[in-house]
Amino acid sequence: MKLYNTLSRKVEEFQPANAPKVSLYACGFTVYDYTHLGHLRKYSMDDILIRTLKYFGYEVTFVQNVTDVGHLASDADTGEDKLEKGAKKYGQSVYDIAHKFEDYFFESMDAMGNLRPDVSCRATDHIEQQLAMVLELEKKGFTYVIDGDGVYFDTSKLSDYGKLARLNLEQQKEGARVDVVVGKRNPADFALWKFEKPGENRAMVWPSPWSERSFPGWHIECSAMSMEYLGDQIDIHTGGIDHIPVHHTNEIAQAEAVTGKKPFVKYWVHHNFLRVENEKMSKSLGNFFTIDDVIKKGFHPKALRLLFLSSHYRSELNFTWDSLAGAQKALEKLVAQLGEHLSEESINIKDVSPAALDFKDRFVAAMGNDLDTPQAVATLWEVLKSSLSGAEKAVLLSEFDQLLGFDFKGLVTEFSQEVVDLTKLPEEVRTLLDQRKEARANKNWQRSDELRSALLEQGFSVEDTADGQELHRQK
Ligand code: AMP
Ligand code: ZN
Repeated sequence: MKLYNTLSRKVEEFQPANAPKVSLYACGFTVYDYTHLGHLRKYSMDDILIRTLKYFGYEVTFVQNVTDVGHLASDADTGEDKLEKGAKKYGQSVYDIAHKFEDYFFESMDAMGNLRPDVSCRATDHIEQQLAMVLELEKKGFTYVIDGDGVYFDTSKLSDYGKLARLNLEQQKEGARVDVVVGKRNPADFALWKFEKPGENRAMVWPSPWSERSFPGWHIECSAMSMEYLGDQIDIHTGGIDHIPVHHTNEIAQAEAVTGKKPFVKYWVHHNFLRVENEKMSKSLGNFFTIDDVIKKGFHPKALRLLFLSSHYRSELNFTWDSLAGAQKALEKLVAQLGEHLSEESINIKDVSPAALDFKDRFVAAMGNDLDTPQAVATLWEVLKSSLSGAEKAVLLSEFDQLLGFDFKGLVTEFSQEVVDLTKLPEEVRTLLDQRKEARANKNWQRSDELRSALLEQGFSVEDTADGQELHRQK
């Protein structure tokens, strides 16, 4: 399998340190607001990477953090903590905000069909490990304290600081503005631990040797937690391209300073951005969309998945509602065709014809070539259009599904249930539905469940949506 490595700027043959084991750390989500389509793209493509590694026989340990403290509004270690900002915006406590948006993140991932991490770790649950790492860096002489501000990493102490982003530190010095943080020794130096400022009154603070009321910097959480769960050296680390020059550069500095320059990560995988209607996604432009917006507009989350796969993860993708409508149509067509073939006698993938095998090899080769999903999806369509038998098409698609994560079989069942026009219902079904509506209004969940079973006996399944009860006829 081949993967593009940001460190070398090359597509490399993937060779984990202890094959078949693969350690993978994905930078997690900052839980201060809703998960949007850009996040969905990044984490869905991580999911495809993990599924593909597994298909190639690797045993993946997947660790992903939850950033619930220390991520400041600016990458230059200034500004408000994003969690405090979210708490103010929604009028709730920081911990309530953190849990609400962590839940929303995972619900969004589930809707997309993304596998959950083996370890999901919150920064606030690992304060001890982060502090221990900062103390170790202090002991090794990599830190200095700026009074009233925080503990900083002295980047001039590492000869290869900035290697990931290929930063030109001399140029940075020449071009440096008056430092945003007064007292920094080098423009690239960054906060490891911050102190609460007078009057700041933060909700999240912990005691440290430097201040009774202090908190970790953003970068230290990923170094500390990845090392806690995956050891000093990891095979793959993922994140958005925005993380290359600061966050990941600083993760490397912290980790390699502590371990004595043992290479922290073997393969750095970076995802390109999703734009919306050619604009950066932002609340003020009104183009900040969530999975709920997608569903409310009548699209299936897996149509979004298909849309994401149509572009390579290292290319920018411009999202439009028209393109999603196209993906929805394509998905419906795909599932309908597959549905026809699923009823045919199944065969084993090992027993397919040479023509079918050729399709499989081409599909797997595309995915093994730095996740060339556009090519892989093109091969999938060729299979459906081909003259292969229905049984062969079905077995090939379920093989492809192991890497793509659509759950095609589940979609066939789901799409075969027709949504029923509530005005054209038999009288007895109408009555059951009305009774169930009333039971739900009275919060009588037991009665509501009994009525659901009664409806099922009549051949209807009921789903509770934001607009009320939705009925599907069981085929
Ligand atoms: P954050 O919660 O801001 O730390 O972001 C979580 C992850 O999502 C990071 O790896 C970001 O690089 C990534 N990300 C944020 N916005 C986008 C976007 N518009 N497109 C793709 N990835 C994004
Ligand atoms: Zn990170």
